[in-house]
Amino acid sequence: MEILLAKSAGFCFGVKRATQMAFAAAAEYSHICSLGPIIHSPQVVDKLAEQGVEVIEQVENIPAGAVIIRSHGVTAGEIQAILDRDLTMVDATCPFVKKAQEYAARLGAEGYSVVIVGEAEHPEVQGIVSYAATGQVLVVANAAEAEKLPRLGRVGIVAQTTQSFENLRQVADICMKKSRELRVFNTICDATTVRQNEAREIAQQVDVMLVIGGYNSANTTRLAHICQEILPDTHHLETAQEIESSWFTGARRVGITAGASTPRWLIDEVVSRVAELAGK
Ligand code: SF4
Repeated sequence: MEILLAKSAGFCFGVKRATQMAFAAAAEYSHICSLGPIIHSPQVVDKLAEQGVEVIEQVENIPAGAVIIRSHGVTAGEIQAILDRDLTMVDATCPFVKKAQEYAARLGAEGYSVVIVGEAEHPEVQGIVSYAATGQVLVVANAAEAEKLPRLGRVGIVAQTTQSFENLRQVADICMKKSRELRVFNTICDATTVRQNEAREIAQQVDVMLVIGGYNSANTTRLAHICQEILPDTHHLETAQEIESSWFTGARRVGITAGASTPRWLIDEVVSRVAELAGK
């Protein structure tokens, strides 16, 4: 049985950076927590908990000490509350997310209506919204929602970092017709697209596909759905312990990929387990 492992599998730049910062902070501070889970990997969150990093959801519940800000950021209000309480802040917000927050703040301050292309419920989007809050802020998921926007004056567009370029372009086209002036900031990070394209390519060449990552990770779940559409024999799993030998009956090639929040050690364990079952 041959194994095809995606080159892009696992941590993206921002998640790798945030995780490294979190482990370094855990070694430095005796009282430390993260505001929400640092990344969408229960196994990484558990490892950090072993180092004393507790997950706390509300700033007011942080007793004292240091607080780590997750890779997809928090709201401007939460940052202010941390500063007001004189807590030590370890800001692991991905620089790409930070850029989107900064553009939203700038557009809002300059009097533009800010249109954010993304999922309204996603914490990254809620963070971006909070920075633009000085003016009118509108979140649209897609072209159909953009069509429902009212006639606007000066409009600035910012995208959630994981959006597809095509979706941003379609929303921008519609906003152009609805506004007097339009500025578009392409704040998309290509980590998601790169992983999705590679997963598609591999799923077309194999008999079984494994997608590793947190069940709470939207990008891993999306990756698994993309593969499933091409290859029904796709399994979304978090750890090697979940692998069942029956998955590989009659299989000659197995593809493996992982979401942007999946650490290397979990990928290596899955590869070793599959190799073991393949008798390598
Ligand atoms: S997907 Fe992109 S924006 Fe999000 S954390 Fe990773 S590198 Fe940063």
